[in-house]
Amino acid sequence: MSNPSISCDVAIVGGGLAGLAAADFLKEKGIDAKIFEAQGVAGGRVFTNRNSSGAHCEIGAFSFTDAEKTLWKYIHRFSLEAVAQSPIDREFHFNGITGHFSDKGDFLEGEEVHIKLKDLLPFYLGRMEKRGEDESVASSLQRAGASEKAIQWLQENTIIGLLGDSLEKVSLLFMRQFLAQYEGSNATYSLRGGNDGLSKALVTHLKERVYFNFPILKIVRTASSIILEGNQRVFARKAIIAVPLAALKQIEFSPPLPKEKQEAISTVPYTACSQVRFIGPAGIFKEIRGGVFASTDHPPGWYRDQTSSQAKQDQATVFSMSFTGPEARKKQGVPDKESAQEVLDGLKPFAHLGQVKWEDHFFSWNEVKWVQGGYACYPPGKLPLQKILEVPVEELHFAGEHTSEKPASMNGALESGIRAAQECITK
Ligand SMILES: Cc1cc2nc3c(=O)[nH]c(=O)nc-3n(C[C@H](O)[C@H](O)[C@H](O)COP(=O)(O)OP(=O)(O)OC[C@H]3O[C@@H](n4cnc5c(N)ncnc54)[C@H](O)[C@@H]3O)c2cc1C
Repeated sequence: MSNPSISCDVAIVGGGLAGLAAADFLKEKGIDAKIFEAQGVAGGRVFTNRNSSGAHCEIGAFSFTDAEKTLWKYIHRFSLEAVAQSPIDREFHFNGITGHFSDKGDFLEGEEVHIKLKDLLPFYLGRMEKRGEDESVASSLQRAGASEKAIQWLQENTIIGLLGDSLEKVSLLFMRQFLAQYEGSNATYSLRGGNDGLSKALVTHLKERVYFNFPILKIVRTASSIILEGNQRVFARKAIIAVPLAALKQIEFSPPLPKEKQEAISTVPYTACSQVRFIGPAGIFKEIRGGVFASTDHPPGWYRDQTSSQAKQDQATVFSMSFTGPEARKKQGVPDKESAQEVLDGLKPFAHLGQVKWEDHFFSWNEVKWVQGGYACYPPGKLPLQKILEVPVEELHFAGEHTSEKPASMNGALESGIRAAQECITK
């Protein structure tokens, strides 16, 4: 006997924040929408790791600002608690590196660098003035008079270095969109208990509308319906595809997607992200200074490769070291032990605070079959592809952070899901 089939009005492929927001929107409108999620949990790239002592750290999205309105609506609606991580005007201390920026954006040696994030963002944005055509972040900075050394420093030490392979390969317009999320914000936040609190709340709200361990492998469009092939066949009137582009490439479409869409899907790269996680004593972050991106919490010597991702829990402090962009690619080839040892060595000056344990865990987003990378990172001149990626193909609609005006963010993912769901009912 063949597997029974499932039917619904709208089938949503992918239970990340984009898919969950789409399903939630459609539920509110009384539409029979169901989510098919490949993995055993929802949330996708919002993924909170917990250890046996109850401490946690974020492996995916770790913070959001007070300016990200859509995300905050969900936080209030589900009575979640946001914890301020740090005021956004906190100072950055780049220990071990000395120098400062001249007015031209040149990097001058001789002083320890203390930069406030509030000053840093206008610094970038001011130099990335709007131009008719897109260019790379590196060439825009060069035009503004920044030296090679300054550009290299930005690449390695600051928010800008978090995205993509190198500043030559990152679109200026993409960077502007990304940084715009921080404009007008005063602090970064995370959810108490873990950022997966939001995806869990949405799953609870959506109840039996979410199907887990249900990868969709093929999507067939016929005159009367859309047939999605997974563990069972799903018959739907419309579908929303809310999976990362690398995952989209693994789905077979019949008939194939338009050529322009296929090309866009293949063109946009994903930045590599990997992490090593540690447990340390409470209070270690107060002592350790130096770091990148909204963090003064990392010790000297290894801050170059990090984004900030940490959580404090009563006695233990879990912190994770993230590698992004070219560093992640390099580190993926390095055995876990070596990466971890490098970090442990960097912590030696803080031995008086107590032992720091290696949690014996190395995580690479590139190795997650249904994601295969960190976030979409648009190269120069390719931002228009965002529009091509979001355009519906007959009754197929497209969501996900890569289709958002606020890329690489939870807020952008949620908004893209709402947009696709709205399209679904108005088209
Ligand atoms: C390391 C890292 C750090 C980040 N930091 C931040 C941050 O600090 N702040 C912030 O706002 N954002 C951050 N982001 C970005 C943010 O996490 C993402 O932009 C957002 O979560 C993406 O949501 P999405 O729904 O578009 O995709 P995803 O979360 O990737 O969801 C897609 C879902 O689709 C599923 N899927 C894939 N293929 C199939 C298939 N064939 N069938 C069924 N299901 C499928 C996947 O399993 C997944 O659950 C970070 C991302 C990473 C990776």
